Amino acid sequence: MKDDNFLKENNARHLWHPMGHPGAAQAEGPRIVRSAEGVRITDIDGHSAVDAVGGLWCVNLGYSNDRVKEAIARQLSELPYYSAFAGTSNPAAIEASWAVREFFAADGMARVFFTSGGSDSVDTCLRLARQYHKLRGEPGRIKFLSLKKGYHGTHWGGASVNGNARFRTAYEPMLPGCFHLPSPYTYRNPFDETDPDRLAERIAAMAEDEIAFQDPSTIAAFIMEPIQGAGGVIVPPARFMGLMREICDRHGILMISDEVITGFGRTGDWSGARHWGVQPDMMSTAKGITSGYFPVGAALVNEKVAEVFETAEAAGAIYHGYTYSAHPVGAAAVIACLEETRRLDTKANAAARGAQLFEGARRLAETHDIVGNVRGGHGLMTGVEIVSDRAAKTPMDAATMQRIHQATYEAGAMVRLGGHNILMSPPLTITEGEVDTILAALDAGLSAA
Ligand code: PLP
Repeated sequence: MKDDNFLKENNARHLWHPMGHPGAAQAEGPRIVRSAEGVRITDIDGHSAVDAVGGLWCVNLGYSNDRVKEAIARQLSELPYYSAFAGTSNPAAIEASWAVREFFAADGMARVFFTSGGSDSVDTCLRLARQYHKLRGEPGRIKFLSLKKGYHGTHWGGASVNGNARFRTAYEPMLPGCFHLPSPYTYRNPFDETDPDRLAERIAAMAEDEIAFQDPSTIAAFIMEPIQGAGGVIVPPARFMGLMREICDRHGILMISDEVITGFGRTGDWSGARHWGVQPDMMSTAKGITSGYFPVGAALVNEKVAEVFETAEAAGAIYHGYTYSAHPVGAAAVIACLEETRRLDTKANAAARGAQLFEGARRLAETHDIVGNVRGGHGLMTGVEIVSDRAAKTPMDAATMQRIHQATYEAGAMVRLGGHNILMSPPLTITEGEVDTILAALDAGLSAA
């Protein structure tokens, strides 16, 4: 292992970091996290902080779950890899598919297709949606509808339904036939509508209008996150997803719930869609499926979709998949992680500690007038929107956001920046005292602005 000086000097010299400017990274040198325990990370300089990011919305069990680590090690000894392409399988994959399906049976999910992460899962859903319509004799249904501010990963399909220009413009043209509705975001929307019910109705009316304009018989699927994560923790009005479900049903459009962040307990329930009383046709998942210990994702479909594939002749074959789909080590991580998720009932702690984090962040708004809006209230997903002028809702500049981030880290908590939003998604195993540590550090960070 190279020494610390080597690591600092070479940090970004050869390594291009996702979602960052390679030149800036070479100049500044990202923080190097060396180790982690419980919900704390420790960097190369020995500074320790509560990880309010949960790795990247994913380390739901914290960093020290020995049962998951041991399951991974055991599987590595027994069978480190075998393909699950048609014709072969492995015991861990079979059990993992059962375990994942059990988690989302109440959401109507019936079959599981393993992937290597969230972007894979989203693109799997999009591709299966098109194939589903072809199998049913409606090959013209090729378009996708989604929401602005939505984040659906970085593959071509997911990036095309993505609702943030930042993730699209450098790579355009995207997939043709993707249309975006306004985000169900009461703080900022094109209608200046602050009433959640009325906002939900206005976007639903726009959806009807856009679908009529596109021609319903050309639309394959509508995809949304039950709570928009990377877009700033945007909690939709309670009626919104239900209204969109009705619209999808009326026009034969499949509904995909992107649960990459919201699945497996983060929102205080096992799925995000459940909060809104909605059963989607498909779900994309990843992250909490292994608590980030191994790169795994899963796309799920309901019985209605499954039946069309399973009863079709040769055309029902799924010519899609990854070398690491149903990877035995990943599958062992899934089995152990989901057992632990249930044993620890992480959704209950997410609900309780999430309420504490959300209320605490709201209290910070009383003493820091740069806090424009605080969002959350469904488990451990909290967004704090920072503005330079509260009345005008002027987004805070990037340099000040960096200062807040640095000061918060120095005061003991790692948070994540999404533009002028501070995003928090700590491990679901976090304690009351550790949430207090995050809030105190954020208080210090906001003061530094
Ligand atoms: N979908 C959602 C809702 C996400 O939040 C993410 C990642 O944060 C993705 C998809 C992409 O997942 P991955 O980064 O594992 O490819």
